[in-house]
Amino acid sequence: MSRKLVECVPNISEGRDAAKIKQVTDAIAAVPGVLLLDVDPGADTNRTVITFVGEPEAVLEGAFICIAEAAKVIDMRQHHGAHPRLGATDVTPFVPVEGVSMADCAELARRLGERVARDLAIPVYLYEAAAAKPERRNLADVRRGEYEGLEKKLQDPNWSPDFAAPYNPKVGAAIIGAREFLVAYNITLNSGDKAHATDIAFELREKGRVARRGRVKPYYQAGELIFYAEGSFPCGNCDFTGATFQETVDHCAAVHGYDLPALMRLNDMDPANPLGQKVRRRGLYSHCKAIGWYVETYRRAQISVNLTDYQQTAPYIVLEEARRLAAERGLVVTGSEIVGLVPFQCLLASGRHYLKAMGKSTGVPTADILQTAVFSMGLGDVSPFEVEKKVLGLPTYDPKALVSMPVHAFTDEVSRDTPAPGGGSIAALAGSLGAALASMVANLAQGGPDAEKDAKLIALAEQAQALKDRLMVAVDADTNAFNAFMDARRLPDSTAEQKAARQAAMQAGLKVAIDVPLDTAKASLAALELAGEAARLGKMASITDAAVGAQMAYAGVRGGIWNVVINLKDITDPTYVAGMQAQCSDLLAKAGDKLAEVTAYIDQKLLDRLNKANK
Ligand SMILES: [Zn+2]
Repeated sequence: MSRKLVECVPNISEGRDAAKIKQVTDAIAAVPGVLLLDVDPGADTNRTVITFVGEPEAVLEGAFICIAEAAKVIDMRQHHGAHPRLGATDVTPFVPVEGVSMADCAELARRLGERVARDLAIPVYLYEAAAAKPERRNLADVRRGEYEGLEKKLQDPNWSPDFAAPYNPKVGAAIIGAREFLVAYNITLNSGDKAHATDIAFELREKGRVARRGRVKPYYQAGELIFYAEGSFPCGNCDFTGATFQETVDHCAAVHGYDLPALMRLNDMDPANPLGQKVRRRGLYSHCKAIGWYVETYRRAQISVNLTDYQQTAPYIVLEEARRLAAERGLVVTGSEIVGLVPFQCLLASGRHYLKAMGKSTGVPTADILQTAVFSMGLGDVSPFEVEKKVLGLPTYDPKALVSMPVHAFTDEVSRDTPAPGGGSIAALAGSLGAALASMVANLAQGGPDAEKDAKLIALAEQAQALKDRLMVAVDADTNAFNAFMDARRLPDSTAEQKAARQAAMQAGLKVAIDVPLDTAKASLAALELAGEAARLGKMASITDAAVGAQMAYAGVRGGIWNVVINLKDITDPTYVAGMQAQCSDLLAKAGDKLAEVTAYIDQKLLDRLNKANK
């Protein structure tokens, strides 16, 4: 039931011949479960960046098909272009988007690499998060020497491929890896002067800028350039001057928290020979690249930002600092724009940040959090921002799903003489409503003077929102869960083997039909516990809402368990049946105790209030 989404961004060494590019992208798009998002050919680089997404296994297949097709249509012996490359499909990164970790993506990279070397006879290097050695993490290092130097590189014991295959001059080598999602993000100024945007960009980016001393204005052009000289090694970020280079390196690490030699390498300077070189001043954010530019369409200057790890440096962090730096310079940030797509979790984190800053609860529906992000970041400033089109991995409901129906139509549907939707779906809906009421009661009480209590209420509302969404998905999942069993029943059963296969498939299908209501029961018990906590922490005026929430959640537990039990009768594995029965008894006992406790507490509170009023 959990959503898993991986992005894959292969770069192929063909950016001019549209027919060849199409042959590769058509093959990728034909892989079931793969959604082709973008094809970006570059004539100068003679290279095409292809972007597609899907569940991990589908994306793995799509990546393999891409490398196989590119090997057919591209001949590296004829390839020229203004971008370093090692092979026909030069680089293939897997990128975690939703419900998968970096380790999962690194594993996909290794599986692809093994298959590419074995089935396509292409040598494979692994890079970034998939790299087997630290010196292979950096793509530029792996690609050094390029295609032209590959034959020699393959013979170098230090550069033997991670998955070996004989040198193939037509195809070259493939570089496969896993990396973070790249967020391309532009911050727009109320100015058409590119220099304004550049000045702020250089403050923000990790690479920083040339250091100056004695500046008096916020704008950085003023002030004297400084150089490293014998016995004088100035720090670029403050007034410190070391007597030796090492002293300044130690100072930068201790006082400013950065690695000076790494900063110099980032600026193409040799830290082994600092004498006579311009001193650099490091920018504010790691994983952040930025430049200033002027956009004719908007008649505005923008700070164009690339964030290579949005979990380390989030767009809203860079935006807030840009707003501060702009204000210092008499400028205004009018808004910002996401180029391409943004991962759901990235925008969600931004929305949460602004809600927190306003002192509002973050335990609110996802759509509300995203809307807050859109408004706070001014994402609709220069062009419209449509959440459905711009957010990758957005949780959405199929328009044909039961939960997309109006309440009256759904109720009518339940009442008809068809077996589904039935009790299982209704149990999930009840549990979801229970969680929704728990969230409501917590949110109504939030915003008071007691910070500790507030934090508890918000945490409660956040948990309740997650359970509400999980149970809402279960409404349709329960109706669909029986399909696997029904499909299995339709399998042929003429021979003994067919009979055995059909029986096994039916048993597996039944277990799916058990897992869904079991999860409904578990999630509903969690919702019941939250409703109880909401009754205690919430306002007296909404205590009966918590009471109704607890009852609904209990119906979710009880209903889920009934739907587990009815399917157990056809399961032939006695150990499985006994284990499931034990789980159900345990859940039922806990839910019964909880409901009794919550109900007694609420009834007593109501009685106390009645007695007080009648005195
Ligand atoms: Zn310093």
